[in-house]
Amino acid sequence: MDRLVVLGGGESGVGTAILGKQKGFEVFVSDKGEIKEEYKKVLEHFEIEWESGKHTEAKILNANVVMKSPGIPDKVPLVQQLVSKGISVISEIEFASKYTNATIVGITGSNGKTTTTMLTYHLLKDGGLHVGMAGNIGDSYAKMVAENDYDEYVLEISSFQLDGITEFKPKVAVITNITPDHLDRYNYKFENYIASKFRIAMNQDESDYLIYDVDDEVIREWLKKHPVQSKLLPFSLKEKQEQGAWLENGTIKLKVEHKTLEMSTDILTLEGQHNVKNTMAAGLAALLVNVRKETIRKSIQTFQGVPHRLEKVLKINHVEYINDSKATNVNATFYALEGIKRPIVWIAGGVDKGNDYSELMPLVREKVKAIICLGMDNYKLKEAFGNVIDLMVETYSMDEAIKVAYKISERGDSVLLSPACASFDLFENYEDRGNQFKEAIKKL
Ligand code: ADP
Repeated sequence: MDRLVVLGGGESGVGTAILGKQKGFEVFVSDKGEIKEEYKKVLEHFEIEWESGKHTEAKILNANVVMKSPGIPDKVPLVQQLVSKGISVISEIEFASKYTNATIVGITGSNGKTTTTMLTYHLLKDGGLHVGMAGNIGDSYAKMVAENDYDEYVLEISSFQLDGITEFKPKVAVITNITPDHLDRYNYKFENYIASKFRIAMNQDESDYLIYDVDDEVIREWLKKHPVQSKLLPFSLKEKQEQGAWLENGTIKLKVEHKTLEMSTDILTLEGQHNVKNTMAAGLAALLVNVRKETIRKSIQTFQGVPHRLEKVLKINHVEYINDSKATNVNATFYALEGIKRPIVWIAGGVDKGNDYSELMPLVREKVKAIICLGMDNYKLKEAFGNVIDLMVETYSMDEAIKVAYKISERGDSVLLSPACASFDLFENYEDRGNQFKEAIKKL
């Protein structure tokens, strides 16, 4: 019997273990940290052996195949040992794909993955397809393959998941954009991170499609030097494309081979230029899996958006409060500042990831009337904007930040939480930060 070792007992690890067991592997799950009680119960239910708080090397190095959870870096000694012994170390995406014949839409990128994944899923579901949504976004893909295999999957895929593929071959791949992120896991080399994102297309052939943002210079330049086999479907806000998607006088135009679709940007429920791009990517993917044009047009108008991404929370005294807590990097915040038309009281800060704020400068000068710094690395914000913004206030809790925002905002303003930073200083994660924002507003 082949031995599958699963490193990491979280969502993707437990899902992989279940699928492995079902496919006849002898499975062992090992997590150096704690495994959640609910997951332990699941493992026991499936009679899967596990350990937590340690890695028993003898058992792990005895594996035929190892599934490594995305949170574990390649450079940890145990992983290095496995690799040097020639044991294949793969990701959940790779493992699960071997056991399904479903059509796969795989979505990666630095920003916009979740939004594009959810919108694509929404379009495919409304198109009547038997479709599952999984990956980075929440539920385990492997578990779905084991329990309820679908005809189509829309997968949100991180670069860490892509690092662990060998044969994974999505019918439709999407790269939303590429800006520097997670460089600590890529030897601080941007090229390594770009290469990782492009792995999504590495096994594609002429019958597959790659949808990407052609306005993104990083992507454009990379493709020039590293051509792919896939059929290319670029999308652009600036230029008409032969095939793909573009904008013409406020109308989104999609073209895939002989199929075309037009829709006005007025019908989009999501705001901001970045969401026009996300809509283009999702619309192209939906056309490719044969969702009808009329359905796509209708379905786009009923998409509810995603919490913590430019989410409108409440209006108080004609001031609107917007939760963009998921903006954990500068590029995401750029689109938030760009998309909002009203004067902005901007709540920013948290754990700085080596941020360069210069690309925000023109938008901040034009639109931001006050900055409320919330977090550990306030000095970076003060350094960047101290000379431009007269009103900068330092705060140390969400309640305090909201009280200040309430005091200084005026009729017609927007109060925007778009931190451009990670959340781990004052909050558990970005959801906690966004939820505290909403709670604090309700208390006003
Ligand atoms: P991801 O899953 O890649 O983190 P999300 O859809 O969760 O992406 O969005 C993360 C942040 O990036 C949010 O602040 C959102 O408003 C912003 N965003 C969404 N789509 C894009 C895009 N295409 N380009 C840049 N920023 C985006």
